Amino acid sequence: RCGYVAIVGRPNVGKSTLLNHILGQKLAITSRKPQTTRHNMLGIKTEGAVQAVYVDTPGLHKNGETALNRYMNRTASSALKDVDVVIFVVDRTRWTEEDQLVLERVQYVEGPLIVAVNKVDRLDEKGDLLPHLEWLATQLPNAEIVPVSAQHGQNLELLEQLVAERL
Ligand code: GDP
Ligand code: MG
Repeated sequence: RCGYVAIVGRPNVGKSTLLNHILGQKLAITSRKPQTTRHNMLGIKTEGAVQAVYVDTPGLHKNGETALNRYMNRTASSALKDVDVVIFVVDRTRWTEEDQLVLERVQYVEGPLIVAVNKVDRLDEKGDLLPHLEWLATQLPNAEIVPVSAQHGQNLELLEQLVAERL
């Protein structure tokens, strides 16, 4: 089995960190600074009979004034077309207007959708995780929701398994 997996979300939620951890190498640049991923990056993960082509995208964000902004939004949007699985990455510590924008986009995605609720290693803010997961489930009733830590590799095996089942 093989297929394309788009990784989308607003800037800084940990999309590139997620891809790097899945691949086990530093393919995409990760940074505290938003907008370090300007092009779609492909990473191929082969495991047994399953081959997943991951597409890391620039963050979807509010259309700014600059051409770069518009270019990055177009690039990220294009990754949503013709893919087999979409991973919508959100940051459990912060929900913003831009997350809302991406949410509205992925609601219309045909095909399997997985929401990766990232940065769960930030235990200090753990108290509000469950209500957030429940709220996401009501917004995206057809999505599979997985809490993960891209940085520490928590739950990434489960995430990859869910991807493999949907390819
Ligand atoms: P992207 O813009 O969505 O590609 O986000 P990046 O992968 O570049 O990550 C943005 C920032 O979040 C970086 O400083 C990462 O180190 C940090 N980050 C990513 N994943 C995690 C995580 O699981 N836990 C924590 N605490 N920080 C993370
Ligand atoms: Mg990135």
